Amino acid sequence: MSELGQAIQSRRTFAIISHPDAGKTTITEKLLLLGSAIQVAGSVKGKKGPHATSDWMSMEQERGISVTSSVMQFPYRERTVNLLDTPGHEDFSEDTYRTLTAVDSALMVIDGAKGVEDRTIKLMNVCRLRDTPIISFVNKMDRDIRDPIELLDEIEEVLDIQGAPINWPIGMGGFFKGVYNLYTDTIHKYVAGHNSQLHPDERIDGLDSDEARQLLGDEYDDFVEEIELVRGASHAFDLEQFLAGKLTPVFFGTALANFGVREMLDDFVEWAPAPLDRHTTGREVAATEPRFSGFVFKIQANMDPRHRDRIAFLRVCSGQYNKGMKMRHVRVGKDVKIADAVTFKAGERVLVEEAVSGDIIGLHNHGTIQIGDTFSAGEDLQFTGIPHFAPELFRRIRLADPMKSKQLQKGLQQLSEEGSTQVFAPISSTDLIVGAVGQLQFDVVAYRLKDEYKVEAIYEPVNVYTARWVHCEDERKLEEFRKKAADQLSVDGGGYLTYLAPTRVNLQLMEERWPDIEFRATREH
Ligand code: GDP
Repeated sequence: MSELGQAIQSRRTFAIISHPDAGKTTITEKLLLLGSAIQVAGSVKGKKGPHATSDWMSMEQERGISVTSSVMQFPYRERTVNLLDTPGHEDFSEDTYRTLTAVDSALMVIDGAKGVEDRTIKLMNVCRLRDTPIISFVNKMDRDIRDPIELLDEIEEVLDIQGAPINWPIGMGGFFKGVYNLYTDTIHKYVAGHNSQLHPDERIDGLDSDEARQLLGDEYDDFVEEIELVRGASHAFDLEQFLAGKLTPVFFGTALANFGVREMLDDFVEWAPAPLDRHTTGREVAATEPRFSGFVFKIQANMDPRHRDRIAFLRVCSGQYNKGMKMRHVRVGKDVKIADAVTFKAGERVLVEEAVSGDIIGLHNHGTIQIGDTFSAGEDLQFTGIPHFAPELFRRIRLADPMKSKQLQKGLQQLSEEGSTQVFAPISSTDLIVGAVGQLQFDVVAYRLKDEYKVEAIYEPVNVYTARWVHCEDERKLEEFRKKAADQLSVDGGGYLTYLAPTRVNLQLMEERWPDIEFRATREH
């Protein structure tokens, strides 16, 4: 294999999907720690405090790991791992969804005490659009969690995916003794109190061994029976099914104690796919093609107050980026020389010398780049599968100063092209409605409208539950629908007809009443 081919095959690009507080930040820290294979004392606590930042920075500098709120790259064994952050909590936005279109696999972290929570369900649904392979980590085994068998059932039922336990917990909470690997027949012993260091690697070979009997004591027979039950009632791991997104290997552990994370990562880098081939409107692009191509999945504004421009995050889909290379910005039809693509190290922007398929680079955007844009080595490619997602929150937007309506339109148009928000113009009124999947998106829009477009806007609640893009082959039916449903119809920022449903029930009724009309929850860029 060529050097480039090898570099591409070594990439593992993934994101973590989880509900807030399940342990995403904690497990990210441990993954980075494992990536550096150096022990540190003192854990990184709190996400926003100045302490955390400086700890992060020194950690990065010491080990040459690049950490940013967006992309983290670290070496692990023979692989190069790209971990894309999916903002949780209040930062949750369409970016979170779109980031999942730029990965090849995902790690699902579940709080063992809580089970499958709604944010996880939503993110999982996005992964399903591309059958993204998912590996699962049931976290917080050092606490009293729910019955593991019940959790496994819940993963299968709620997420509609087969669960294949790789290891099985021995006890939990104060009685947590370790995990038993169903495939290697080894017990990995848990020792409390190793929060930020690498957990000691104490193993017992064979559940049948004297040592195992000793460790389990009175619970030995019950555990052996439980394992038989688990083997009988659950799915066996199957690589093909995993790669098809139909089966998820399940690991148990505790991220806080850094227990079980390494085992998961070891298997993950083996099983998770190298950069996958991608569809374009014309042909399939193989990740190993030598010619460069990629698409923009996220645009971030004002990441650093000292730099006022925006960064467009591009996922490299084939070939290699070299500093100073010429690439075609396909939608605009222009060839541009890019010598200043960036990545982020220790909070600073760093110029990228080279990046290969699977990697993420940041392009400076002075307003010409939109979400979904393709860059290529000259070919007119357009990557597909970077959709708009139906917003879940809506506000009517009103001007404080009616004279500024031109600026408002322009501002909203640009912000929607950048993917900061979605804009809907009802066909039967002069209102403007903005939609988002996270509350923060509205705050960002309000701030940027004021700051960049000098428009002061007022946001009002509006009676919209969700949006659906309307599609119908039959022109006459569509026209009929357009008339009957006019009060609920809008045109979105891209000029597409959208149905704004006031309630879930209303949407269901309309879908039943208009079987020829498709109500789509996503729309391609
Ligand atoms: P995020 O919101 O998903 O990023 O979650 P965090 O990583 O910030 O974790 C949320 C809380 O759970 C924090 O207080 C963590 O210390 C705690 N936590 C994370 N992993 C574990 C674990 O394995 N065991 C216990 N007991 N607490 C954990």
